Amino acid sequence: MMIKTINDYEITNKRILLRVDLNVPLDNGQILDNSRLKSIVPTINIIKSLKGKIILISHMGRPKGIYQKELSLEQIVPELTGLLNCQVHFSSQIIGNDILKKTHELKCGDILLLENTRFHHEETSNNENFSRELAKLGDIYCNDAFSASHRAHASTVGVAKLLPNCVGCLMKKEIETLEKVLKEPEKPLVAVIGGAKISTKLDLLLNLIEKVDYLVIGGGMANTFLFAKGIKIGNSLCEKDLKNTALKILAKAKKNNCLVILPSDAVVSKKFSSNSKSIVREIKDIKKDEMILDIGPSSCDKIKKVFSISKTLIWNGPMGAFELKPYDEGTISTSKFAAKLTKNNKLISVAGGGDTVSALKQSEVDKDFTYLSLAGGAFLEWMEGKELPGISCLLRSV
Ligand code: AMP
Repeated sequence: MMIKTINDYEITNKRILLRVDLNVPLDNGQILDNSRLKSIVPTINIIKSLKGKIILISHMGRPKGIYQKELSLEQIVPELTGLLNCQVHFSSQIIGNDILKKTHELKCGDILLLENTRFHHEETSNNENFSRELAKLGDIYCNDAFSASHRAHASTVGVAKLLPNCVGCLMKKEIETLEKVLKEPEKPLVAVIGGAKISTKLDLLLNLIEKVDYLVIGGGMANTFLFAKGIKIGNSLCEKDLKNTALKILAKAKKNNCLVILPSDAVVSKKFSSNSKSIVREIKDIKKDEMILDIGPSSCDKIKKVFSISKTLIWNGPMGAFELKPYDEGTISTSKFAAKLTKNNKLISVAGGGDTVSALKQSEVDKDFTYLSLAGGAFLEWMEGKELPGISCLLRSV
């Protein structure tokens, strides 16, 4: 990788402006999942041990340039303090003379967290002056927020161009893992793509069919492919207007020697509710008033067979409407099998994007996958083959 890491710099006594992603799910100030906070601890600890001074910057939610108490990063301070086992100072100011003075007063190993960068609209517009003000706060810029790197914002791109820069441990691991699975994967390579709709994952599908040997399509998006193939799918979620697109994807897959695996059976119900009876049906037998809500057992078996003959797995999106039982079974059973193969060193498994992490956590396999990316949009854009501005600006300035 042609990007510098924190170890490439002499950082003792230096102010490290560390871009992290503290955008954790909150409910009334309570952190619902602290995975993102845990994931930045290694980089912070390295900087501390090398006697650098840490200035943390991050966004939270989408406040659109206006202060909102419920999106203040001050709420994160107690949890971060606990995880790091040391005091985390907080500044409600992000730019200006007072905060600049504070950064110069920091002692080696001190940690100062700045307020949500998106309380300034200049953050999302990647304003030059704002970036310059941010750059004054550090001697070195370190980006450990892969999950925010698909955005060309002041804290991810603007400031990176103005300071000597590098990536943190999390970002390094994320880039290396994703590069390995997409650019030089151990073959055969299988991709599992699920979730609600094709329309949100067109670029992803088109990029993957050029690279993977097997493409497993599940979730609501499989319905559109089944419909395009002339199969009656009853009341199932379906993007009928994308029939031709689905057919084109299937044709392109064939041309690229990519075998597409669609569900052969499904768990169906008349309503999407816990008290509506569910039944397993062959795909060809779906009734008019039924909807497909999960893949069925024989589809699961087929997918497991494909996993058994593959060396690398990329996973995005659930196989069914996993939020409601029993429609989580397809995702649970197939992901558990992938986790078992991974544990036995037979499969390299990488998953990420949107609901995928919660679906795999529900399956309790999140720790057994080789890598679970906490990045949503950034993971998807990488898998779509797009350039991420927050990473390319670091590459260019080396
Ligand atoms: P995505 O964010 O595109 O990965 O989509 C995730 C969403 O797809 C989840 O909320 C699932 O409930 C939904 N989903 C998956 N399969 C189905 C299905 N067969 N019918 C309706 N929704 C589904």
